[in-house]
This record gives sequence, C-alpha cells and structure tokens, in this order.
Amino acid sequence: MYAFCVKTSRLGPQYRAAALDELDGGSFDVVVIGGGITGVGCALDAASRGLSVALIEQRDLGSGTSSRSSNLIHGGLRYLEQLDFKLVREALRERELLLRSIAPHLVWPVPLIYPIKHRIWERAYVGAGITLYDALAKLGRSTLPRQWHLSKKELTRVFPGIKKDEFVGGIRYYDAGTDDARLVLAIARTAAQTGATILTSARVTGFGRDEAGRINSVEATCLESGKRITVGAGVVINATGVWTDATEMLVGDTDKDVTASKGIHVVVPKSAIDSSVGFITKTKTSVLFLIPQGEFWIIGTTDTPWELDLDHPAASERDIAYVLEQANRVLARQLTTEDIVGVFAGLRPLVIGNAVSTAKLSREHSITEPASGLITIAGGKLTTYRVMAQDTVDRACEAVGVDVPPTKTDQIPLVGATGYSAMNDSREELASRYGVTESEIRRLLHRYGSEATEILDLAASDPILAKQAPSGPYLGAEIRFAVECEAALHLDDVLTRRTRLSIECDDRGTEAAEFVASIMAPLLGWEGAAVARELEHYTKRVAAERDSQTMPDDHTADAARLGAPDIRTLGA
Ligand SMILES: Cc1cc2nc3c(=O)[nH]c(=O)nc-3n(C[C@H](O)[C@H](O)[C@H](O)COP(=O)(O)OP(=O)(O)OC[C@H]3O[C@@H](n4cnc5c(N)ncnc54)[C@H](O)[C@@H]3O)c2cc1C
Repeated sequence: MYAFCVKTSRLGPQYRAAALDELDGGSFDVVVIGGGITGVGCALDAASRGLSVALIEQRDLGSGTSSRSSNLIHGGLRYLEQLDFKLVREALRERELLLRSIAPHLVWPVPLIYPIKHRIWERAYVGAGITLYDALAKLGRSTLPRQWHLSKKELTRVFPGIKKDEFVGGIRYYDAGTDDARLVLAIARTAAQTGATILTSARVTGFGRDEAGRINSVEATCLESGKRITVGAGVVINATGVWTDATEMLVGDTDKDVTASKGIHVVVPKSAIDSSVGFITKTKTSVLFLIPQGEFWIIGTTDTPWELDLDHPAASERDIAYVLEQANRVLARQLTTEDIVGVFAGLRPLVIGNAVSTAKLSREHSITEPASGLITIAGGKLTTYRVMAQDTVDRACEAVGVDVPPTKTDQIPLVGATGYSAMNDSREELASRYGVTESEIRRLLHRYGSEATEILDLAASDPILAKQAPSGPYLGAEIRFAVECEAALHLDDVLTRRTRLSIECDDRGTEAAEFVASIMAPLLGWEGAAVARELEHYTKRVAAERDSQTMPDDHTADAARLGAPDIRTLGA
C-alpha cells in the first residue's frame, strides 16, 4: 500500500485511494467538511498545530465560491465607508503576509485607479479614505506603494481607454490579485504536506453521536465509487460556505444562518480595454471592478439574492447586460457581448444579519456550535482565510477541551513559495536552459512558484507534454501535473480550475477538451466510454451555462437539464 504516513503534497489518484482507505473507519482529532478556502485554511491550521486532520470535499477543491471570486486580495476599501476598521486592518495585514512570504508566487500587486468626478470635496473625501487605507496597511508593514493623486491628464495617460470627460482625475493605489482556485489548491497541498488527509469527491451525508449526544463521527459517500465510509472525529468543522444550512440540517438544526448572494464577472481580452491599471468605483448596487489578470480583464460584479440550485449558479442575460452597462459608463470604447470570452458566477456565503439588502450584510465571519462537537465557520472572505481558520481551530479546540499551541500559519509558506524569489530573479537563465521565452517562465512561476521547473522538466521529457492546449497557453505537462499532484479527477477540474480555459477562450474550453482528456485518460484509467462521458458532460455544462446566459432572469446551469448527469455521482 501507499506509504501514507509520508506527508506529501502530491495529491494524485494513488493518494486519493489511500486517503479513502485511511478515512474509512479511521479516527481524527479534527474532520473538516468543505474544500473551499475556508476549509483548506482550517485543515492547514489544525494540522500545523499537531492535530490529526481529515478534510472531506464533495466535489473538487475550490469548486464552490472559492474559484468564482473577483480574485482580489484586498482590505476592502468599501468597508472603510462602513467604518469597519478592524476588518480592513486585518485584511491588509493578510494581504502583506501573502504577498511577502506565504504565497508570493500566487499573489501579486495590482495598481488600481479610483476615479474622481468632483474636484474638491470628492478628492478630499476619497483621498482621506485611501490615506487611511494606506495607513492601516503600513501598520501591517505593507511594502506596496502609497496612493498617488492623478490629474485628468495623468489619468488619461495611465488609462487611455477611459471616457475623457467623465472624470476630473483619480487616485492611484495598490491592492493585490490572485488566482483564487490555485490559491485554494496550494493551501490544500500544503495542509497535506503538513499531515492532513484530503479526500475530494466525497459528500458528507450524516453524523454519528456518542451516548452523551456529542457528534463523534461523520458519514460520507465517495462519489466516484459509491462507497460509504464512517470517519471518527474529535470535533467536526463545518466549512461548507453557502451549503452551511444544508450541513447543519443533518444534525437537525433548521435555523437559516447563511444567505447566498450572487456575483458575476465577465472576462474580456486585454486588448479590449486600453489601460495599464485596474479600476474600481461604486455602482448603484455593488462595486465595479476592472481587474487586469494575465492576458485578460475580469470585470464585475453584481450582488443579488440567489434562491436556486446552490451547485450551479449562473449569470443571466440581465446580469451580463448590467456589468457591461456599468463598465461602459467609464470606457471610451464600448464593450459588447462580442468582446466577452468568459463568464462566471459565484455565491457569497453571507451571514444573516439585520441588514435589508445582501450588499449590506457583513463580510466578517461568524463561528457557532450548532450541535455539541460541530463547529460552523461561515462568512468571511478569501483574503482573511488564515485568520478565519485560526479563530475556528481555537474555538473547536476550546469546545472539546484540547490544548494546542497557537497558530503558526503566518510562518508557513505554501507549496511553491520557498525558492520562488530566487527563481524569479533567474528567469533569463531558466529561459535559456529550457529553450522557452522569459514570459513563459514568468507565466509558469506565477502558477507553480518553485515547482515551475517540475513542469518544464516534464515538458522536456515528452513532446506531447511540451505541446500547448488548443486555444490556450497551458502545456500538456501542466495537465499531467494537475492529475498527478493537484487532485484533478475530471475534465472540468482541469478546464475550469487547474487552468482557466473555460473562461479564457471563446469556445469556453470545448476545443481544448479532447487534448486535455487525452492526457488525463491514461493517468486516471479512463477507457473510451469514460472519455466520451467526460467530454459529453463538459460540453453540456458549457451549453447549460450559455443557455442560462440567454435568459433574462436567473436559471441554474445544471448540465442535467440538458441530459448530462452529474459526472461525480455516476459511480455513486
Ligand atoms: C462574486 C464574488 C466575488 C468575490 N470576490 C472576493 C475577492 O475579490 N476577495 C475576497 O477576499 N473575497 C471575495 N469573495 C468572497 C470569497 O470568495 C468567499 O468568501 C470564499 O470563497 C468562501 O469560501 P468558503 O470556503 O467558505 O466556501 P466555498 O468555496 O463555497 O467552499 C465550500 C465547500 O464545501 C463543499 N461542501 C458543501 N457541502 C458539502 C458536503 N455535504 N460534503 C462535503 N463537502 C461539502 C462545497 O462543495 C464547497 O467546495 C467573493 C465572492 C463572490 C461570490
């Protein structure tokens, strides 16, 4: 059998088989439900404090909200307006830690413009807000440049594509960007390397209790094989985002604690907007972000209640029209649906408060104990996952009377972080050693950090692995790495989260699907019928999303509507 006691960050199919065996009938200090940023953060925190940890995710790592965000690691300027200084200061400290030491390969500075329409009062008001933002950042030892006031002329120099007569100037400041899905993955792999056992494609369906009524186990079903397992737990952490209430229902708690608010983004090519900086401004119901990411712009977002299927949120025609309309209020060259190469929709898990609209509900997290032995963590944001994890593990240990050392995740670099800076400094040398361009080295370093050479070595070992996927920059080697080290089990995992082919190509990744499947198939033991099923499911998922995008009102993007049953429940 696989030597499981070896801590590894290589989450391939062999690892998964061994994890399933280990969980079945096994017992752990902590069982975490949910493999979004909150759950993987908790798994890393608990494992690094010496606890034995199992994490169970029903689909793919990051497949819920955590791969559908605006991809910003930010303090949240708008929370300053709500006078939420604590939240902003905490988030800015996390931003700095991620940029500097935890994930310098996956988190990068993003210059942003906040535009000004009114010369005197608005410049003073916004300027004061951003000064405070910078000051709070400095308390967290921020290394990012401070704000810079721009005249109208300077604004049009850095952002030539802006409507010339709309603004009198702007304020330039910095936040940070990331690839949310890859950040989740890096945290999960680091947790595994620290000793946590990660099992994906397994749904928690129930709980067991001891004689005193305390929860002491979880029941789960492997969605690949249908196998049912029982996992002993000292304490269970419910980190299931918008599914929080569904998970709590399994222990008979019928209170509604979390509401889902949908936010959508559209993706357009870099050439569609002439600017060297990102852009942020308030809209009637949300915030408009234009965020540069690689060869694309991510434009969002919306904030509307979502009451349909939590598994398959989708953008409607109205959502897309709204985002384009907001962007076109500031852009000289008007964007149309023709410019859009990708669209994605996510659900914010908002803790229910007294606020009337979802835009006003708190982004802070809440930790509760709905049943003895079950700790629920809800709300929060991507940026503050580490603090949320620390609070949750503290609370879980307190609930079961276990003494643990304080968290040390602020000192744990994620996989790929150690050695990244040195490699980044020697990009030119790496490029000539591997016979690729320096920009290709930069692309790989941002995705894999110091593991980039593993991708380059794989590519050098086999011409198929050196080939690029049709309609995208991703190499065959990256697809193989996704299966062997990054827990990818299905085509959708690779096309949507390990790569971003599903939102970076007009064809939404369908053209690359066969190439990707041809590399995944031998590694995952797919025969002809399995390959056909994966391709059919992916194509129908894309069709369901496109279909929803032509409807004025909300519809789910459940591929089952088009006759493709959920790929993860076929074996169950
Ligand atoms: C439009 C939008 C933009 C955003 N932008 C930003 C941003 O720029 N910066 C920022 O910091 N934050 C942002 N956020 C917020 C952030 O994305 C979320 O707060 C965060 O991703 C929530 O993570 P989570 O782990 O709690 O939930 P999820 O990522 O949804 O994870 C929950 C997981 O639980 C699993 N699960 C559910 N039930 C079960 C079960 N029974 N068994 C096993 N597993 C189960 C699900 O499959 C899922 O993977 C944004 C959110 C949205 C929607």
